[in-house]
Amino acid sequence: MATFSISRIGSYENCPLQYKYRYVDRIKMEAEDTIETFLGSRVHESLEKLYRDKQYEKLISEEELLSFFNQIWEENWKDSVVIVKKDYSPENFRRLGERQLSDYYKRHQPFDEGRIMGLETMSLLPLDKQRQYLFHVRIDRLMYMGDGLYEVHDYKTGSSLMDQESLDKDKQLAMYSLWVKEQFKDFKKARLVWHFLNFDKEMESFRTDEELEELRQDVLWQIKDIEAAEDFPSQVSRFCDWCLYKPICPEWKHEAGLEEKQANEYLNDPGLKLVDEYVRIKEELKEFEREAGENLAKIEEALIDFCKRKDVSTVFGSEKKVSVSQSKISSFPGKSSEQRQELEQELRKMGKWDEVAGVDVHTLKDILKNKKWNQEDLDLLRTYVQEKTRYRFSLKNK
Ligand code: SF4
Repeated sequence: MATFSISRIGSYENCPLQYKYRYVDRIKMEAEDTIETFLGSRVHESLEKLYRDKQYEKLISEEELLSFFNQIWEENWKDSVVIVKKDYSPENFRRLGERQLSDYYKRHQPFDEGRIMGLETMSLLPLDKQRQYLFHVRIDRLMYMGDGLYEVHDYKTGSSLMDQESLDKDKQLAMYSLWVKEQFKDFKKARLVWHFLNFDKEMESFRTDEELEELRQDVLWQIKDIEAAEDFPSQVSRFCDWCLYKPICPEWKHEAGLEEKQANEYLNDPGLKLVDEYVRIKEELKEFEREAGENLAKIEEALIDFCKRKDVSTVFGSEKKVSVSQSKISSFPGKSSEQRQELEQELRKMGKWDEVAGVDVHTLKDILKNKKWNQEDLDLLRTYVQEKTRYRFSLKNK
């Protein structure tokens, strides 16, 4: 029997290597909370208390809610909590939590819409008939609104707001609502509700029964694909800064080792030296290519001049010879140039725009070459033709 959660699936989507460390190799890392998860836990616990008390017909005040939040913040705080965003202190995050709760309280008091059916529920949703695959369900708050309507509420304390399109595709709450549907015989519909506390914003989404069954199958297939995976490539992203496996990950392990070294040891690190040398040579190569390109262009100019003055097309060196050939090329003004705008206006005036709009300059060249328009229009079109001479240099053995 395999049990999967949305975070387990998310871990694979985010970085297969992280998934392998955690769920295949089961490597245990000393898990220090980041300040974001610490804040999230304290806000969730505070809202759980608010609604738990409400279940017992006790409405706590905003001040009591904030005082509870500050109390559990102090009780749980450890200096080992990791702060990735170095510009902000724990105090900034604590005040952020206060603001989120205060805004939420003002917006939703007196909290008596619907009946509270569950807080921080924990259960398992079978994904297949044999119950071999189970999905973890953990609902922040489940409400019954009457007439078969249930609400699945989720609190988000992070600094990003999801757009409606993403919410309409979100798997987590939709899967939870599937569990609700199977638990309650009077279920007709679920309203999925996200509280983006940092933005004091509530957003919602709905799913049809067909969409929910389709999702169940999709998640089941996704889990089977994950189980069948043999390669677990690393996927570097901004989430690496929050990844517990960063110190052992091949993408970052060398950097972690460097950070532990003293200044003199650091500069003598063989990997660091190799990369610095690699960068130096690449830069030298770039500079060499730039200079060589400039010199080559000068020599080509001198060869053209030599051929014109001596009336020759091949110039001999001590071991090789260079043949210089020339051809005329015609083009029309480039897309963003002013002349291109003028040309397009003229074509419109001539009533020819539909004939050439959206086509490339080859069509215009074909019109000129095969005289497809009247002489007057062709003459006007010709004024936009830009003639250039192209030289070709071929180096050959003598
Ligand atoms: S540090 Fe980044 S790349 Fe490495 S395992 Fe973690 S998420 Fe993947």
